[in-house]
Amino acid sequence: MPKKIVAGNWKMNKTLEEANILASEVKAMVEDEVKGDTLVILCTPSLFLLPIKNILGNNSRIFVGAQNCSEHESGAYTGEISAGMLKSVNVPYVILGHSERRQYFGENGALLAKKVDIALKHNLTPIFCCGEPLDVRESNGHETLVKQQVAESLFHLDAPALQKVVIAYEPVWAIGTGKTASAQQAQDMHAVIRKHIASKYGQDVADSISILYGGSVNDGNAKELFACPDVDGGLVGGASLKSREFTEIAKSI
Ligand code: PEP
Repeated sequence: MPKKIVAGNWKMNKTLEEANILASEVKAMVEDEVKGDTLVILCTPSLFLLPIKNILGNNSRIFVGAQNCSEHESGAYTGEISAGMLKSVNVPYVILGHSERRQYFGENGALLAKKVDIALKHNLTPIFCCGEPLDVRESNGHETLVKQQVAESLFHLDAPALQKVVIAYEPVWAIGTGKTASAQQAQDMHAVIRKHIASKYGQDVADSISILYGGSVNDGNAKELFACPDVDGGLVGGASLKSREFTEIAKSI
C-alpha cells in the first residue's frame, strides 16, 4: 500500500517569525484533527528547516522537507546545499525537479537523475516532480512527456531504490494558477504513471509507490482529487501557507 502523504511546498515565502507561527499552528491542528496514517511534510526554505524541525519535535506524523539539493557531494558550489548536509541535520525529504526548478534553473532529466541518486545515497526520500506545460497538454503530448520525465530520472534505479521515491504529478498549467486538473485528468495521468512503472518493475512495485497530485489543490477540491484510486495525496503550494486550509486538505485523504 502506498503511503498517504500531504506535503506543503512553502517555496520562497515567510520570514522566520511567520514560519514559526505557521508551523506551530499546523502542528497543533494536525495532531488534533488528522486521523489515520497520513504523513504531513512541510517543505520549508532551507534556512528554516532546523527551527521548524525543532518546533515539530519528535513527531511521527509531521516532518520537514527541503525544496532542492545539489547534485554534487560537496565543494566549491557557492549557495548550494548538499544531500549530505540535509541528512546531517535529519531532514528526511527533499523535493526534486519541481517545475519552477526546471523552468527557471534549467534542471533537466539527466541532472535530476543525479540529484535523485545523491539524495537516495544519503537516505533522503526524494519527492520527484513531473508534469507537462499547457501547450503539451493541448497538443495531447502530456502522457508521452510525463512518461519520459519519469523514465529519464528514475528508471536507472533498481526496484528497492525506486520504492523509496515519492512521485508528484504536477501539471505546470495548474501550478499557482487556481486552475486545477479535474479529478478525472489527475486519475488518468496517475494511472498512466503507475502503469509505466509496472511495465518496467512489475505491478507490486508500482502499487507500493505514492503518487501525489499537485496544482492548485485547496480545501474545496482536495476530497475529490484524493478520492481517485491512484492519487495517494497532494503536493500543495499556495494553500500550504495557511494553517487552517492546509490542515483541511490533510484531513481530506
Ligand atoms: C507547487 O508549487 O508544487 C504547487 C502545486 O503550487 P500550488 O498548489 O500553489 O499550485
